[in-house]
Formats: sequence, structure tokens, C-alpha cells
Amino acid sequence: MPSDDRSKKVLGIKVDVDTYHGMKNGVPRLLNILGKHDIKATFFLSIGPDASGRAILQLIKNPRFLKKMVRTNAVGLYGLRTALYGTVLPSPMIALSFPEIVQEILSEGHEIQFHAWDHRRWQDELHTRSRDWIRDWLEKGIRGFAELTGQKPSAFGAPAWVIDDRVMEILVDYRFDYLSCTRAKKPFIHEKTGVVEIPSDLPCFEEVGVSEGISIITSILKDGGLHVLPVHAEVEGGIWGGPFIELIEQIKKADYRFATLSEIRKLLPANELTVRKYRMELLPGRSVPCAV
Ligand SMILES: [Zn+2]
Repeated sequence: MPSDDRSKKVLGIKVDVDTYHGMKNGVPRLLNILGKHDIKATFFLSIGPDASGRAILQLIKNPRFLKKMVRTNAVGLYGLRTALYGTVLPSPMIALSFPEIVQEILSEGHEIQFHAWDHRRWQDELHTRSRDWIRDWLEKGIRGFAELTGQKPSAFGAPAWVIDDRVMEILVDYRFDYLSCTRAKKPFIHEKTGVVEIPSDLPCFEEVGVSEGISIITSILKDGGLHVLPVHAEVEGGIWGGPFIELIEQIKKADYRFATLSEIRKLLPANELTVRKYRMELLPGRSVPCAV
């Protein structure tokens, strides 16, 4: 294949692991599905405490969140215990509780990157927290990541695609090879920091639902190009595993080549990417604005 064709039909799967339940049950199930289809994906791991139960507090504060919980059958997706972590039950550690699963992801040839220390607190509290809190959160997460994998992450994907200007300034010090912090439509370079962004451009099942989701996603893929599909260990590795298998079978039929995000990073013509600032936007099916 000529080198200029290599980015014509490429799909990266970005698996976000947000909860203890997703790490314990969702990741092994996804490894099984990906293995059977000979697909290598990129797993973005939450390292530290699972405080998902704090989301219940959001129900009261945010009616859009309540709608999302009902539409996606959140208790069915995440399990009742998950709904209580960080409130009436203590928060268990996520990746740190399962070093053997981390090793399994690596030994099967997938990429692992850094998603969170405390996912829930980042998405709920980032805007009220200090720069020191942000640094401490990153330090704890990266230290835990290094304990589990023996190395530092070369990429960061912000929880819930929530970032701000302070985060972007602090991230420069970590010299990440790329970021996957947005839902932009195509890769770009973050203004001022110069870091390459590989966004999740496709919608996820949680946003568009499973019944419509497969046709919505495959119709976007018709025109070819380079795409990243966001997947959640709790969801596609849980009750929506069936539709996920159907989706990847359709993607294969459409002649897409699967690549990890690090491989996609190498395919990007860095000198041709737009340099710009991210902006925050409320996307359909989401409860809070995301960076795009
Ligand atoms: Zn996440």
C-alpha cells in the first residue's frame, strides 16, 4: 500500500476504564472480544479511587444527567455497588487493584495510557480545584501507572474530555507524546503547548444509543479517513458487548485497518495539522460540555 494511502481507512479504539467494575469485569471481556477479532486497542486507565457513587449527587444538581442515567440504564450498566462507591461504601482503587489485568492488557499487545487518578472528582470538581490539586492528581496517577507498568505514560486522555487552560499549561511539563483529551472532529495541535491531539471523533453508544448507534457510526465511516472510536470498559465490555461486536464486524467489512493511538500518532503529518485552542461544547447525549 503506498504510504499516502495508509491513513485512508484507519480506526483506533480508545477504551476508557472509569470504574472498579469496568476494570474487573469489562476489561477481560473486551480483551476477549478484541483478541478474537485480532484488534489492538489503546486502554486509558483510571488508576486510583472509584468514587462513582458521587455521581448520585449529580442527579440532584443536573437534570440532563438524570435523563442520561435513565436512557442508558446506568444502574444496569455499572451495577448497584458502583453507584455507592465514594458515598456509603469506601472508594476501591481501580487499576491498582488489578495488576494482573494490567499485565494481561500489555501481554496481548495493546497500548496502555493514563486516563485518571480519581476520574469522578476530576469531572465534577476540576473547575473548583487549585493548580496544586491538579498537579497532585497527575503525580499520583502517573506514579501508580509507573508502578503497574514499569514506565511513565506517553499520553493522557482527560476524564470526560474535560480540560481547562491550567491543565493544558501543567501538562506541558509532562512532555506527553500526544493527548486524547477532546471530541474534536479531527486531530490538531494544541495552541501554545504544541502537543498533538488525537481526538475521539466518533460518538459512543452511551450518547447515541445502541439501536441507532451502529448505523450512525458506520455512516460516518463511509467516507474513509482516520477515526477514533471511544469505548467504555463498563459499557461495551458489559451489557452492550453484543452490539459492540456487531459494530466492529461492520467496521471490518468496510475495510478499515485497526491501529493503536500511538500508531495513529505516527501516521499524522504533524506539520500539516491545524494549531488552535480547544473549546468547550455540549455534545448531543452528554450531560456536561466536552473539549472539542
Ligand atoms: Zn473516562
